[in-house]
Amino acid sequence: MNIFVCLGKVAAGKGTRLEALKKKGVLNDRFVTISVGQVLRNAEKDNPELYEKIKESMEAGKLVSNKIVCELVFHKINSYQKMGKDVVLDGFPRNKKQAKALLENFKDDKIRMIVFNITDDEVIERTSHRLYCPVCGSTYTDNDLKPPKVEGVCDKCSGVLTRRDDDKQKVVEDRLLSYKKETKPAIDWLLKQPNVVSLFLPQPVTLADGTLKDPELEYFFNL
Ligand code: AMP
Repeated sequence: MNIFVCLGKVAAGKGTRLEALKKKGVLNDRFVTISVGQVLRNAEKDNPELYEKIKESMEAGKLVSNKIVCELVFHKINSYQKMGKDVVLDGFPRNKKQAKALLENFKDDKIRMIVFNITDDEVIERTSHRLYCPVCGSTYTDNDLKPPKVEGVCDKCSGVLTRRDDDKQKVVEDRLLSYKKETKPAIDWLLKQPNVVSLFLPQPVTLADGTLKDPELEYFFNL
């Protein structure tokens, strides 16, 4: 089976671009997306005791422990593979240990890495405008980029939009540091692995009707 690994700095547009490909039917029923940040946030209702440990790291802009993240993510991958799905991982692996564990645990799968490029200045700008629905995980902005239809309300589930604690500027700066220290070396390591196919993505073009033109990403999912 294929495992697509989507990596990039905070607010690089991973979720938005994957969502756009779902709407377009490119990411169809053959695929299932696992948003690791969302899986961790969901632990608040699924496993409150575990969430206490997760929350501490998340609120500090640090990575959650490899043991917790790998257990949660590998369990999800295994259950989706049993259903015959290709898995798209949004935000995993984020360090070299996670990358190695992924390749060790899924030796028979094809790993395809996608790196979403964005500058640090764009990250700061984007996170300062980002809104989040705590009910379904959808994201919006408080500027013209991706506003909700009704101010402060989620289009999909009518949840009340809020700002994520980890989008505060100090936390975002810590997350950028963590990306450079931890995730970049994982990307460099994955690039050297013979069974990993990699794609470095440019920013997509936004068309006049607001849809995204993202041909490289589309092509990669059709390989
Ligand atoms: P995200 O929603 O992808 O921006 O992730 C939010 C937070 O979840 C990160 O700042 C980390 O604290 C945590 N997190 C997400 N993915 C991972 C991962 N692969 N390993 C460790 N922590 C993670």
